[in-house]
Amino acid sequence: MSLDLKSKEFYEMLLDNVLARVTKGSSASAGDRVLEISPNLIIDAKNTFFTNLGQVAKMLNREPAHLARFLLKETGRAGAISDDRLVIQGRMLHDEAKRLIDLYIKEFVRCPVCNGIDTRIVSEKRFRFLVCDACGAKSPVRRI
Ligand SMILES: [Zn+2]
Repeated sequence: MSLDLKSKEFYEMLLDNVLARVTKGSSASAGDRVLEISPNLIIDAKNTFFTNLGQVAKMLNREPAHLARFLLKETGRAGAISDDRLVIQGRMLHDEAKRLIDLYIKEFVRCPVCNGIDTRIVSEKRFRFLVCDACGAKSPVRRI
């Protein structure tokens, strides 16, 4: 066997590997799962009650407190969690809440590599990473 043939085989093996990974990533069925998330909001004179915060957080596999911190921080509003509901001072309309949740999913749930949503946030020292259970990617995320 000549050296040339060996390196050709090696090259083809590498190529196969790359193709296998690309195929696996694009066909990850979990990543294509459609998230049907709709915040339930009750608005009174002073506050907005996000009544299904706990349920939405559970669908995203995140702590309700983490999602709540994001919503409040992004909008500069005050609020507090009470019994899995988020009480937000002031009015937050459905479209705004939906848009914020989409942003949250984009930043803190969806894997930037394979687009999957089977992810976790892990802490390492003072850093936070989004770890994908589908493709194994580990991406830095900001701490909120
Ligand atoms: Zn992934």
